[in-house]
Amino acid sequence: MTGHLGLKMLGSRLLIIPLFCLAPFAVADQRPVLSLVIDDLGYSFENGQAAINLPGNHTYAIIPGATYSQKLATLAQRKNKEIILHLPLQSSNSEAAMEPNSLNEKMDEDQLTANLHSMLSAIPNIKGINNHMGSHLTEIDYFMRPIMDIIRSYNPGLYFLDSRTTANSVAQTEALNYGLNSISRDVFLDNDYTNIESIRLQYQIWLQKARERGSAIAIGHPHSTTIKFLRENLPLAREQFEFVSVSKLIDMVYYGEDAYSWQQELSYLQRDLN
Ligand SMILES: [Zn+2]
Repeated sequence: MTGHLGLKMLGSRLLIIPLFCLAPFAVADQRPVLSLVIDDLGYSFENGQAAINLPGNHTYAIIPGATYSQKLATLAQRKNKEIILHLPLQSSNSEAAMEPNSLNEKMDEDQLTANLHSMLSAIPNIKGINNHMGSHLTEIDYFMRPIMDIIRSYNPGLYFLDSRTTANSVAQTEALNYGLNSISRDVFLDNDYTNIESIRLQYQIWLQKARERGSAIAIGHPHSTTIKFLRENLPLAREQFEFVSVSKLIDMVYYGEDAYSWQQELSYLQRDLN
């Protein structure tokens, strides 16, 4: 049978029967898929709470050890939102304000293990991890390898979302090498968070990538400008796109039938790196 119509001969009459009349089937949601991650939760309760209250299946990355980390993690879970550890890694910008517990190149493997374990256990029920900063450390494979190995030994069910704070990041490659599910951020929404037109442009790029490829991941931050923009714009996007948590997106990308293929993801990644 070809096309949309089933053909069936009955006596001398040709009946044209639409296929949907022959067998009922579930219509898959064909909308492009978006995942939204809000990073840096823990510094401000008010902004964190506003981010968590955005309707939809968004993912919240909690900074370990910040003043409101535990409170916001509990709040997000009470609202059935996915939470992940926002893992502080050394930046290439020596002027950037680093978290006191940030993993850095001066640490040996025992120190990496101790610090990573204490951060992983600080926030219960995380589904994955993404990097906070890390433009230095994520470029170095001999640091990413033990880090992914430690994460896998701690809990092989965790995924690693590469925030891609540098185009030369090897974090996703090494996460995959160590058997973790892994995916990369496509767009940062608010690097220029005081400029609403910049947020709007980044937002449009995110939606366009999802239209072209089937899905796209954006990372934003709990700035009041970003939250206000998302509160105003997400309702319309939700009519045209399906919003899913990062763990659900990974399921669709790795194992889904109608999501875009993993090969496509890799080819985009390679193109990005070239
Ligand atoms: Zn961050």
